Amino acid sequence: MKIAFIGLGIMGKPMAINLLKAGHELRVFDFNKAAVEEVKAAGAVACESSVATVEGVDAVITMLPNSPHVKSVMLENDKVAEHMPKTATFIDCSSISPIASREIAAELEKLGIDMLDAPVSGGQPKAVDGTLAFMVGGKQEVFDKFKDVLAAMGSSVVLCGNVGAGNVTKLCNQTIVAVNIAVLAEALQMGQMCGVEPQKIFEAIKGGLAGSTVMNAKAPMMMDQNFQPGFRIDLHIKDLNNVVDAAKAVDAPIPLTQSVLEMMKILHKDGDGVCDHSALLKYYQKLTGEVLHH
Ligand code: NAD
Repeated sequence: MKIAFIGLGIMGKPMAINLLKAGHELRVFDFNKAAVEEVKAAGAVACESSVATVEGVDAVITMLPNSPHVKSVMLENDKVAEHMPKTATFIDCSSISPIASREIAAELEKLGIDMLDAPVSGGQPKAVDGTLAFMVGGKQEVFDKFKDVLAAMGSSVVLCGNVGAGNVTKLCNQTIVAVNIAVLAEALQMGQMCGVEPQKIFEAIKGGLAGSTVMNAKAPMMMDQNFQPGFRIDLHIKDLNNVVDAAKAVDAPIPLTQSVLEMMKILHKDGDGVCDHSALLKYYQKLTGEVLHH
């Protein structure tokens, strides 16, 4: 297929390269010229603006930071929606508010354009490997048409419901991960203060019910005081703010999410927003004055 790809950041660049490897034709744009040049070297056509990417394409894919960026590109500033072929589909892979996804889809519908919201989980390593997990919202027939395009970038592609369902599912993922990391930090810190080595706690419980992918990935980072991202606290604050907005709209109770969001905001104020989300441990370390060790 011929595809426009806008947003070649940590995630977008390897995703675009995987689409090229799968044989798709790509027209790409990002403000970051170095990223554009890299994807051009892999076979894409480099464009001077987002609007210039859409010529003759079957799909427009965006991988941008948050709702305002996607709205700006598609509807408000660049107005890509007005310039893209009416036969083309808009596929937003960014993690944005599901409310915004539905608003964008409604505007596109007025122009006769279909949309899928298709956020991912997996992070940069899986974007590079092409093993991301896609959570998709949209019509079944649109999903069927573009499933293989998404499968070129991921190992799991699941239709979760109508437009917005992809981002609702992504928000569920993000709050589960955030609360898991927070309680892991809380428990290891408490365990050490009660006199047991964190490494022993980890070894003893990782195979049981409390064990998790989060525990396996983040407990060693916490014990090493290694907070290199990974996934930054600031990006997670963005996602949890989107959880708050989505939950407020339907009156869903989210006390756990709210607590972890407050903790992350405090870390951000202390300059830790650039750290991996495993740095939630720092919140407990600052309160107790005790550093977690092996
Ligand atoms: P990033 O900041 O590395 O990349 C975003 C890119 O968008 C940048 O290159 C920026 O220049 C570009 N951009 C911004 N506004 C633009 C515009 N108007 N026109 C063209 N380009 C524009 O972010 P990322 O880490 O690639 O994340 C992208 C999305 O994927 C986010 O919603 C994020 O939450 C989500 N996500 C990230 C990860 C991760 O581990 N980094 C994992 C899963 C999902």
